[in-house]
Amino acid sequence: MPGAHVKTGSVAGRRRTTGIGPARRIAEELRAQNERFSAAVENMSHGLCMFDADERMIICNRNYLDIFHLDARVVKPGIRFFDILQHSVDIGIASQSAAALYGIRKPYIDGAKPSTYEEVLSDGHTVVISHRPIAVGGWVSIYEDVTEQRRAEAELKEQHRRFDAALANMSQGLLMYSAEGRLIVRNQRFLDLCNAKAADFPLGMTHGQMLEKLVGLRIFMPIEIDIEVGKTKAALEAGQSRSSYRELVDGRTLFVSRRPLAGGGWVATFEDVTERRRAEERMTHLAHHDTLTNLPNRSMFRECLDQALGDANAGPLAIFSLDLDRFKAVNDTFGHPAGDWLLKCVAKRLQHAVRSSKDVVARFGGDEFAIIQFGIKGAADAEKLAKRIVEIVGKPYRDKGREMHVGASLGIALYPGDGHDADTLLTNADMALYRGKSEGRNVYRFFEPGMDALMRERRALEVDLEAALPKREFELDFQPILNIGSGDIVGAEALMRWRSPARGLVSPENFIPVAEETGLIVQLGDWALRKACNVAANWPPDMRMAVNVSAAQIKSGGFARSVISALAFSGLAADRLELEITETVMMDESDAVLKTLSQLRGLGVRIALDDFGTGYSSLGYLRRFPVDKIKIDRSFIRDLDRRDTAAIVRTVIGLGAELGIIVTAEGVETEAQLDMLRKAGCGEAQGYLIGVPAKAADMSRLLRSQALLRQSG
Ligand code: C2E
Ligand code: MG
Ligand code: MG
Repeated sequence: MPGAHVKTGSVAGRRRTTGIGPARRIAEELRAQNERFSAAVENMSHGLCMFDADERMIICNRNYLDIFHLDARVVKPGIRFFDILQHSVDIGIASQSAAALYGIRKPYIDGAKPSTYEEVLSDGHTVVISHRPIAVGGWVSIYEDVTEQRRAEAELKEQHRRFDAALANMSQGLLMYSAEGRLIVRNQRFLDLCNAKAADFPLGMTHGQMLEKLVGLRIFMPIEIDIEVGKTKAALEAGQSRSSYRELVDGRTLFVSRRPLAGGGWVATFEDVTERRRAEERMTHLAHHDTLTNLPNRSMFRECLDQALGDANAGPLAIFSLDLDRFKAVNDTFGHPAGDWLLKCVAKRLQHAVRSSKDVVARFGGDEFAIIQFGIKGAADAEKLAKRIVEIVGKPYRDKGREMHVGASLGIALYPGDGHDADTLLTNADMALYRGKSEGRNVYRFFEPGMDALMRERRALEVDLEAALPKREFELDFQPILNIGSGDIVGAEALMRWRSPARGLVSPENFIPVAEETGLIVQLGDWALRKACNVAANWPPDMRMAVNVSAAQIKSGGFARSVISALAFSGLAADRLELEITETVMMDESDAVLKTLSQLRGLGVRIALDDFGTGYSSLGYLRRFPVDKIKIDRSFIRDLDRRDTAAIVRTVIGLGAELGIIVTAEGVETEAQLDMLRKAGCGEAQGYLIGVPAKAADMSRLLRSQALLRQSG
């Protein structure tokens, strides 16, 4: 690159006038000075040009030429300013640049004052231009290319604009604190969330002051400010984020999250999570409550119990397992909406029955409930509550003119006596309930240590029983029934036997109730019915077959079909089949059962009332459904030598005669008993005296010999 162009006219001209010696030295000095000046000008980072009073260029540097894209060969010292302009027009520099280049502008013309201004050249570059007049005339112009600087500034400005827009449009409130812990940024959303004004939270405030203000303005619920500030500080210093929920005075909830910033300081965001929180709460409530009654469910109950047991100060507790009696009948009779309504009523009554608000009443599903009774002094307190519950739940439920009845059975386990953990206590309460139920309804039972062994035994029985039917382990025995008047065997009762390889011969009294509870009785009863009909079909045509039927079979639906099918397959006439039902069947409030029985009775099937006198002492049901036979329970026959019992038996026999119902005495073991029954006018007798339950073949033989006897007689 060439050196700075210096106009030689004035300076070099003066040099010539000097002589030798000092003049030469001066000339040398001048030359050196000139060179230094040129070098300085050339090495400036700015563009520079200087003109004399005649508007001729004295000097310019390379930067100047480059900024304006001027040709160094044309633009050099001595050129007149006007010629530079002409040159710029020749090489096509646009007017704007030309004006900048010209650069004299008004200030100079007006009063030769210095001027500085900024110009964007036609090539897009931005230059800051300053013109300065020189005392001896002429001027100097300096051009600084600030393109990069301006671009960076614009970019920064844009960045700020974007940041502001982002802040303003965030759905979250935001606060930013400096490394010194002072508030430096706060967005509008934060103010909106707090329903506050910018003036409430001036920049520069500390975290502590901010919290004080938020509590003071009754935006945040009161908090321990020092602790809060300390926690945040500790987390941030450890480089960790910290988030928490903040309850607002107006009921909303904010989620606050604080994060340290890379260069020190930290940012906090605030999110309104009220709706989300409520939805979550609803979900948790749903997960922990029974939707029908709104009572805690099993999992919640477990939680409460675990908590109570984990509390070192917890005194004795009572855990109740509760189950409704006859609830299924309500459901069957009145329909599920009525059943639901009744369950809600029971829930309310139970809540009412527990005295302490601390006590927990839960519904486990169906008609199963459970209760934790707190603060008891002993078993007596639990017993009091149990009695109260049995009484309250047992009262009638009236809805839309209907009256429904259920009862409550309760099993009670006491803490700490009956167990130390929730599982054991609940199982034991269940066990006690189970026992209570097997002994009669509407009762409460406390857990006793022997119960679990019994329970295990019972479970094993259930398992074995389930497997016994496919393994053909059941048999039927037949016990003859005597017509007392004629002395003839008129039929037999089929009695089920379970010949278990492991248990030996199991009495129906032991397995029928279990089969009833597990539901197996439906299949088992169906099998007995078919088997009995097949056997009877081979008997003389005047012989009847009595088959015992459980309430569960009749209620199961499809019972009538099962009877009809057994008759059809065996070819037995319907009037030779007698179904023995117990009073509990008649007590069932559902019409479905009575409808099934009448349907069968309509076909000619006879209905006998078994174990008469042991159940409900009401004869009202005899009006609702007429039966063909009454079988007086053998407990009465056993005590026939007692005057009062004999009176009862005679009355029942009289009643039968009155209603045209056959009366059969069960369990007749002695001649004396039979004699007395004959005298009282009893129709039929059954018992060891007449014949023990026997195999089908033995029974057939007996009937054949009787037939032979009759023929010969
Ligand atoms: P239940 O229907 O009252 O049957 C009469 C029971 O009395 C039979 O007991 C019978 O063996 C017994 N027994 C008969 N005569 C005498 C006697 O003179 N003295 C004494 N002490 N007992 C006598 P078992 O066979 O043990 O049956 C018990 C109960 O099991 C039956 O009572 C009946 O309710 C039920 N059961 C038997 N088989 C079936 C069945 O196939 N289905 C259903 N659902 N229940 C059945
Ligand atoms: Mg019977
Ligand atoms: Mg009986």
